[in-house]
Amino acid sequence: MAEKSAVDRSTFDKVILPVYSPAKFIPVKGKGSRVWDQQGKEYVDFAGGIAVTALGHCHPALVKALHEQGETLWHVSNVFTNEPALRLAQKLIDATFADRVFFANSGAEANEAAFKLARYYASHRHSPYKSKIIAFHNGFHGRTLFTVSVGGQPKYSDGFGPKPADIVHVPFNDLDAVKAVIDDHTCAIVVEPVQGEGGVTPATQAFLQGLRELCDKHQALLVLDEVQSGMGRSGKLFSYMHYGVTPDILTTAKALGGGFPVSAMLATEDVASVMEPGKHGTTYGGNPLACAVAEAALDIINTPEVLAGIDERREKFISALEGINQKYHIFKEFRGQGLLIGAELSDGFKNRAGEFHAAAAEFGLMMLIAGPNVMRFAPSLVIDFADIEEGMGRFEKAVDKVVGG
Ligand SMILES: *Cc1c(COP(=O)(O)O)cnc(C)c1O
Repeated sequence: MAEKSAVDRSTFDKVILPVYSPAKFIPVKGKGSRVWDQQGKEYVDFAGGIAVTALGHCHPALVKALHEQGETLWHVSNVFTNEPALRLAQKLIDATFADRVFFANSGAEANEAAFKLARYYASHRHSPYKSKIIAFHNGFHGRTLFTVSVGGQPKYSDGFGPKPADIVHVPFNDLDAVKAVIDDHTCAIVVEPVQGEGGVTPATQAFLQGLRELCDKHQALLVLDEVQSGMGRSGKLFSYMHYGVTPDILTTAKALGGGFPVSAMLATEDVASVMEPGKHGTTYGGNPLACAVAEAALDIINTPEVLAGIDERREKFISALEGINQKYHIFKEFRGQGLLIGAELSDGFKNRAGEFHAAAAEFGLMMLIAGPNVMRFAPSLVIDFADIEEGMGRFEKAVDKVVGG
């Protein structure tokens, strides 16, 4: 067998396309909510691979599903269907509003499928001119040209040539702004129930409900991007379930495979029925390995025990953060849903999220930021209480260093 050559963080700077600037250390092993780097240093994981490893690292049930499927059947393409994909689709349908599922491999691809479907549905059912998509400032939907253009941060979409047309952005949680631009040429409103990358901001009840009503009035589809907020993250299986607002199309990815790349677009029968063989596709979508792992993840996440534990863990996080804040006064607001938590820095610490993030790593804590002013926590949904305590202790040391230094 070929020798594995030695690699370290400096290798990254030579061989990887410079679109990321990863932390100084390289994780090599994980178990539950603990991770170890190349030097054997241990970390508490409050990042969860950006809301992906919802059951922690190397959960035995997921390892078992991967192992068993790995010795059975890896890939057949969509020229054939397969049992894990059919089982997972049925379970997603049973658990949600949806009647039909399309599998892909990433959040961006699930959204790409959703946006194409919304456009196709409108042109098929109504008119080829019904193509306007309404989306929101600071929204994030992925990095393909269509999804990044629907996203509400021009710094991510500028410089790549002409963008897909007829996409309008308005402020999030501002129903009047939507009313001002929606019309009968609108095919869809695309929204995250909790803006993740944009700063961990939940939609208000009146906003999401109002979007549903506006969509109905103008025969537009409500597309919910639950790539980050879905699969238990919010405390319910999907965030829309908190609002009692039912979408026409929903996308899920990140935690769907618990760390194995897989995504899905869910749709109602009516919306799905405009599609026909050949209209859309992907080689890997519905891959048996991915679906077997995702089925195991869904079986665990969609249980009262796991879902009920999420609010309890959120309370632990918030009370620890409040304790730190009483000493250091670095935060002005805590927000989010379930175990997607945003802590906005107070004005005295503006633009310093990166410093806290780097200091946390020094003290053995992996966490996230959401823009320059928000510390973001997206841990495992089953993180041990002892790990929360230990991680928050480390975070306090990091805060002390940044504030004191
Ligand atoms: C992460 C994310 C995406 C993109 O998912 P990828 O798997 O990176 O393509 C899309 N929408 C939301 C809300 C996300 O958080």
